Amino acid sequence: MTKRDYYEVLGVQKGATKDDIKKGYRKLAIKYHPDKNPGDKEAEEKFKEATEAYEVLSDDNKRQLYDQYGFAGLEGMGGTTDYSNVFRDFEDIFGDFGSVFGNFFGGGFGSNRSRSANSANQGASLRYDLEIPFADAVYGTKAEITFQHNEKCETCGGTGGTDGAKRKTCNTCQGAGQVRRSAGFFSVAQSCPTCNGTGSIIENPCRSCSGSGVESKKRTMKITIPAGVHDGKRITIPGQGDAGTNGGPSGDLIVFLHVTPHKFFERNGNDLYCAIPISVTQATLGADIQITLLDGRKIKIKVPAGTQYGKLLRVKEEGVPFTNSSRKGDLYIKIIIKIPERLSLKAKALFEEVSKIQGENDSPKMVPLSELSN
Ligand SMILES: [Zn+2]
Ligand SMILES: [Zn+2]
Repeated sequence: MTKRDYYEVLGVQKGATKDDIKKGYRKLAIKYHPDKNPGDKEAEEKFKEATEAYEVLSDDNKRQLYDQYGFAGLEGMGGTTDYSNVFRDFEDIFGDFGSVFGNFFGGGFGSNRSRSANSANQGASLRYDLEIPFADAVYGTKAEITFQHNEKCETCGGTGGTDGAKRKTCNTCQGAGQVRRSAGFFSVAQSCPTCNGTGSIIENPCRSCSGSGVESKKRTMKITIPAGVHDGKRITIPGQGDAGTNGGPSGDLIVFLHVTPHKFFERNGNDLYCAIPISVTQATLGADIQITLLDGRKIKIKVPAGTQYGKLLRVKEEGVPFTNSSRKGDLYIKIIIKIPERLSLKAKALFEEVSKIQGENDSPKMVPLSELSN
């Protein structure tokens, strides 16, 4: 039987991009997949043919040889199809068909973990979400967190066995850690489900941890939240994730900070912003006003005479501390001018007098909106 040109097989041009090649193969692979065409010899041949073409064209080296010398260029490269390329791209190609094809290939594709009984496995890192008040993020705090993680089993000291770590060869895979599954016309190796790919199982598993060597425990600990942290900041607590197995290191606990918004204060970088209403007369004549800071301290602010609505008054160094620094951002106070809605007769008379003295402009000129400090 003469072989068809690989490009022709996949229905792509000779200069096709990798993406086109992948798409071409994906289409054929799904159409002719043995799981969809049980017992159909022709479909099986087509699937094989497409897989072989893809295997070559998706490999830069092989593709170049094929382009230059045709099938002759590939001779002596083993002859049998090496499915590793196809498997490598498995997720891309069959991603949408995860359930069907994942099953066909034995699942766990791409995560070709070959673990052995002696290899140490690092424990998983864990995520902890912590909500903190706005002021605590600014000034720093200590927080108590309670979380669940796997710790080394106390009963067996992490060995998983009642009599040390005595292990026996896994019966399912005869110690290989992998089992081969025949799927249609080719077989694939998958991690042994009995021993999790380690090749051996604990002879007398520990009762407390059923042989896993770890047990789930609740922990409470205090953590320090430095001043100046921002929303979304992560704090890593080394070694407080899940315990490793076979002597492997523990994972970390990663605390994700979520800062609750404040009713009055907002933050922009390390600067704080708030708004304060003052009266028309205070804005006109100037005033000393007292404001309460985020931490409860009270300070006096000088509002200059003739302060306009929206003016930002800066208070130096009353913003958010920079982490690991003695520097601080500033506090900006936005001035809001409250116009009195009701006046006493006396106040009204006085305002009318001011109006008379000042003189009113009956045809004010427009101001560009862009010049307004809202
Ligand atoms: Zn145990
Ligand atoms: Zn096994």
